[in-house]
Amino acid sequence: MKYAFYTGDDDSTTEAHIRQKVSYGVEKFSDTILMKRSLTTRLYNLSHSTKFADSSILSQKVINYLVKCFSYGVAQNKGNAKAIQAAINCIVPHAFGDHKNCDNKWCKFKQDPGSYKHHDLPYGKDLFGDKLRSALENIFSDYCTDAVADKLAPMTNSQRNEALNSVVGSKNPKIRFYGGSESNDFRVACGVAQTNLRYGYVSQTLEALNIEPGKYCTEYNDKMTSKVLQDKIRKSTVDFKRRRSQLNSQKCSQTARKEAREGKIYETGIGLNLELTSIVSSPTTHCQARVMAMPPNQFKEIENFAPKITLRPVAKQVKYEDNIFYNFLIFDTETNATGKSAEICQLSVTDKSASHKF
Ligand SMILES: [Zn+2]
Repeated sequence: MKYAFYTGDDDSTTEAHIRQKVSYGVEKFSDTILMKRSLTTRLYNLSHSTKFADSSILSQKVINYLVKCFSYGVAQNKGNAKAIQAAINCIVPHAFGDHKNCDNKWCKFKQDPGSYKHHDLPYGKDLFGDKLRSALENIFSDYCTDAVADKLAPMTNSQRNEALNSVVGSKNPKIRFYGGSESNDFRVACGVAQTNLRYGYVSQTLEALNIEPGKYCTEYNDKMTSKVLQDKIRKSTVDFKRRRSQLNSQKCSQTARKEAREGKIYETGIGLNLELTSIVSSPTTHCQARVMAMPPNQFKEIENFAPKITLRPVAKQVKYEDNIFYNFLIFDTETNATGKSAEICQLSVTDKSASHKF
């Protein structure tokens, strides 16, 4: 069997492997969803790394708007690379109120310039600021080259693979190592069967083995299958999608508000990008600096508060002699905890003859 195309993210490893190991040419399509995500990330990084003077703020809302325009542009021109290129090219100018290249089909400004407002931009106003515009155009220009448009045009995505991946993952969790045993094969097979046949695969397997599936087993399978199918229908409705995006933007704005109040909540690799200035002004060094600046007599005074050091006395060595009778005492203690905070709650002692003890 030969594959002519494959769809993937824009990481290089898979592509490099295919180039090395497959003798015939395989063309790569870009996954639209992953492409959208990479665009979002780049816009985000831009908004965090650079502050644009005299420009609109590159807020969550603006980023969402730009990404939405991007996916509309790709979806509405499916299969037509040139049209996709043209559409992506006019996203930024359109947002900045420059409509000369916009298409009459979708640009509402061209249809009715008098009352036009941007639906999803803050206050419905055009964005402004030359620096912001050139930075955004710079990012978008990467997405409308001939090569990218050709790859985007088929509008493939690897979501079905991801879905299968998650079903297999539920049978074969990463925290357990099944890869070394036969169990792995069965687990993957179950995942594939469940994706293709839904939960009916359990009964079918049993029947193939000449075991009659029980009443509860079939009932359960039917119930789960119909639940999966209904979920699928429910999740594909416009209402559901609208609600999902509403909840998502709600969450985003909440996070933004909290971050404004108390700084970054969570970020991958946050330990790596601590700024140097925040390390310098850490409390211990601050404390040390204050001690250095203190006059010597005040320093002495404070030192006197601390008790003088007492060395632990060294035990006197006793030589064992055969002709002397030693009566050894053996202690046993019970404490209420381990560690330095432990207190003795039981104490017992006995001597060598065991006649004296308590
Ligand atoms: Zn326009």
